[in-house]
Amino acid sequence: MLDRLVELDERTWDDMNGYSNSSPVCAADPGAPLDEPHATTVQVLSARLSSAGCAVLLSGAGLSTESGIPDYRGPNGTWTRQPRAQWPLSNAVYEQEPELRRASWQRRLHSPLWAAVPNRGHFAVGRLQRLDVLHWVVTQNVDELHQRAGSRPDRLIELHGSMRRVRCLSCGARTPMPEVLARVAAGDADPRCTSAAGYHEPAAAPACSGQLCGGVLQSDTVGFGEALDAHALETALSVVRRADVLIVAGSSLTVHPAASLVPLAAQHGAWVAICNNQPTPYDRLASLVVRSSVSALLTAVADALATTAIDSAGWPVDCA
Ligand SMILES: [Zn+2]
Repeated sequence: MLDRLVELDERTWDDMNGYSNSSPVCAADPGAPLDEPHATTVQVLSARLSSAGCAVLLSGAGLSTESGIPDYRGPNGTWTRQPRAQWPLSNAVYEQEPELRRASWQRRLHSPLWAAVPNRGHFAVGRLQRLDVLHWVVTQNVDELHQRAGSRPDRLIELHGSMRRVRCLSCGARTPMPEVLARVAAGDADPRCTSAAGYHEPAAAPACSGQLCGGVLQSDTVGFGEALDAHALETALSVVRRADVLIVAGSSLTVHPAASLVPLAAQHGAWVAICNNQPTPYDRLASLVVRSSVSALLTAVADALATTAIDSAGWPVDCA
C-alpha cells in the first residue's frame, strides 16, 4: 500500500497490487445529476446501514461544496478552472523560500474558507454516527467540518490532515491555526515555531528566540508526494478491511492512497456505494452508484433511519 499522496489511475494501482475485479455495477441513479435522491436509493442505503456490523464513510471534497469550499475536479472545481494552478507547494520548497511562505501566510490570513460552516451532509453524517449505524468516518477533507457537525472525534480519521492546525517542520509540534494567524495579522510575516519542547539543536535556534524551536511553520496538511500520517493511514486500512459497508461521499477517487481504500474494501467483501457528481474510476466496484447531491442523499438516509429508530424504540434516538 502506498503511504504517500499521489494521483494515479486505477489501472496503475491495480497493476501494482495484482488486483482485478469486474463485478457488475448496479446503478440506481444513473445518468445526469439529480437534485434529490431517488426513494429506492435511500431505502437501499438505509437498509444496508441498519444491518451493517461495521459501516465506514469515506468523504471527499464533494461533501463540502455546499459549504462553499470548492472541490477539485467538479464542474466548478479548482483544477477544472485552473488545471494544476493550485497544486500545493512541497514542504522542501516551502521551507527554503521565505517569500513563498510570506505569500502563503497572507493567503491563509485572508482566505474566505475560514468562514465555511458544516452543511446538511456533514450534520447527517454526525446523526448517522449517533444512531450507531455509521461506525467510522475517513475523510480526505482538511476543513474539520465533520467535527463541527458532531462527528465523533475518536471515530474520525483525517487522512490528509487539517488546515485548521499548524505543524512545525522541525519538531512536529502542532498549534491551532487561529493562534498563528493572529501573529501574522499582528505583523509576524513568517511566523516560527515557539515550542520549547521542540528545541533540539542549539545551532539551529535563532539567537533572538532563546530556547525556542524556531522551525518553519506549515499548514498541517499533506501535500502531493508527502507521506500521510502513519497512524491515520494504518487505522483507515484496518477499519476498511473489516467494513461490511463502505459509502464514498463526494470523492473523485483519483488521489491515493485514499482512493485505494475502495478496492481494498471490495476485496474484503464490503458492499460499496459511491455517491459523487462525476463518474469515478471505481464505479465498477460499487453495488450502488449515485449522482444526486451527496448532502441530500445523506440527509434523506439519516431522516429515514431516525424515523425507523423512533418507530421501533418508541422514543427518539436522534434527539440531539
Ligand atoms: Zn518546532
